[in-house]
Amino acid sequence: MTPTHSSDSSKKHIVVIGGSITGLGAGLALTSDGHRVTILEADSAPMPDTHLEAFEWDRHGSPQTKHSHALLARLYLLIRDRAPGLLDKILACGAEELGFIDRARQIFGEIELEEGDEDIVLLACRRSTFEWVLRRHILDTGLVDFRDGITVTGLSSVRDPGTGLPRVTGVKVEDLDGSAYEVTGDLIVDASGRRSRLRRWLPEIGTQEVHQDSEPCGIFYTSRFYRLNDGTQPPELDGGIVGADLGYLKVGLFPGDSRIFSLTLAADPHDDVMRKILHEPGFDAVAAAIPAAASWTNATVSEPISGVNGMANLTNTRRFLVEEGEPLALGVCAIGDALIHSNPISGRGCSLGWVGAFALAESIREHPSDLRALALDLDARIERDVVPWYAVQLQQDRDAVDVAEAQRRGENPYQVVREDGTNNPKAFMRSVLREGLLPALQEDITLMRIFMRTMNLLEKPNDLMSNPEVMQRVMASYQKREQRPPVFQGPGRSEMLEILERVDQAA
Ligand SMILES: Cc1cc2nc3c(=O)[nH]c(=O)nc-3n(C[C@H](O)[C@H](O)[C@H](O)COP(=O)(O)OP(=O)(O)OC[C@H]3O[C@@H](n4cnc5c(N)ncnc54)[C@H](O)[C@@H]3O)c2cc1C
Repeated sequence: MTPTHSSDSSKKHIVVIGGSITGLGAGLALTSDGHRVTILEADSAPMPDTHLEAFEWDRHGSPQTKHSHALLARLYLLIRDRAPGLLDKILACGAEELGFIDRARQIFGEIELEEGDEDIVLLACRRSTFEWVLRRHILDTGLVDFRDGITVTGLSSVRDPGTGLPRVTGVKVEDLDGSAYEVTGDLIVDASGRRSRLRRWLPEIGTQEVHQDSEPCGIFYTSRFYRLNDGTQPPELDGGIVGADLGYLKVGLFPGDSRIFSLTLAADPHDDVMRKILHEPGFDAVAAAIPAAASWTNATVSEPISGVNGMANLTNTRRFLVEEGEPLALGVCAIGDALIHSNPISGRGCSLGWVGAFALAESIREHPSDLRALALDLDARIERDVVPWYAVQLQQDRDAVDVAEAQRRGENPYQVVREDGTNNPKAFMRSVLREGLLPALQEDITLMRIFMRTMNLLEKPNDLMSNPEVMQRVMASYQKREQRPPVFQGPGRSEMLEILERVDQAA
């Protein structure tokens, strides 16, 4: 790498494309190591004065800002341990720490704590608040050159004599006046989100095509925000998030900061009738029919403070910048959604964006003067710490699509014994999860702990169901299913269609 502002050649000038959660996380991680960071952000929306005003922030470059966000323990720990001052600022804006310990005590009374229990903490904070505080914090450090209204349009490069690969030396940009120029750096980091153009830019500088795997998540998303009425205590939360999975409909309730929470309803894009949840009357009727949602959105508890925001075309997508052990180009990498993004319903994107940002800082620390080794090191870290979550999401989404399709055909996807008397192994697993694991989370603290650690990305995804102790406990709980009253998560699809029909008639 070319030496930069510092006489210490391990300190670089790093140009980050995109100033959202991942780009800002990279700014934090890289400046902590003494690098100089320039962030180029296409949106030119001025920064609101307060986190409350940030709720109306026009962040159209990252439209999911208008949706529910869970900020998982993996992210919470990075903030707590790497940027405690930032955590204080987030909490000062009314965010709350929803910890496993408090929840476990509510359910099980006095409990024996285990090491790491204090780490299982979900941050209840709106995405707009988090991004606003984070940006403010980064700007206040004075260490990052944050330039907004600057759109990156391509890469500049030279040929690396050692490897013959293109070596990226900077980015081509266009500002709001339409002026085009170049910003150079020792390393270019693409954090420009799911709509990243890196796949187009790399072949323009002579790399092979960038391979991409992509599959629909099988859902579209709708979110609405509410404020708790003055003096009203929020209803109970199970481990920070209240959810329901009705197969044809997924429901998530996300506590936020400042007594504001949001409700997300997500359904299959092929389910035409369910598209009515994209509009307030349909959304409200469905919310009222689902006990976990209704207990929060009922007018005696809260009032809506936004319309219904929708988002479609959600995919699980992974892009490959290393092929057969060789980077496609040197001096460029991608993190966050630009590299890998998956179904938002699991709430992992911000956490994994930060995992990538801090992994990048470590790769640079390990390989300060070898761009090829740096690229391979980062790729290995992503493969280890991010890809397993992507892989598990693909499997879950494929199954969720099967469930939704079966329900649309009027079949029962949880029916373990088929009409011809044979067993349906997929239905068996679904039913074990629904009637074994879910109730056990309220009855067995060991399972609750492992489940919450996994959900919060503190364990590897496969560690959950491949753990013999977990399976034994889940099966023990499943055996008791007949002894429990049936859990009513919400109406079946045909009943919900009738509810939506009545909404039409009333309109
Ligand atoms: C509906 C929905 C709900 C979600 N819910 C959750 C959740 O509960 N919890 C969670 O952790 N994650 C959630 N996610 C995922 C999370 O929002 C993303 O993972 C996260 O925003 C990724 O951050 P990012 O910085 O990588 O990309 P983005 O937030 O998409 O930001 C990319 C930035 O790059 C800028 N940019 C783009 N192109 C250029 C360019 N050419 N030049 C300069 N700048 C550019 C954009 O303006 C934008 O600011 C959700 C996602 C969706 C879609």
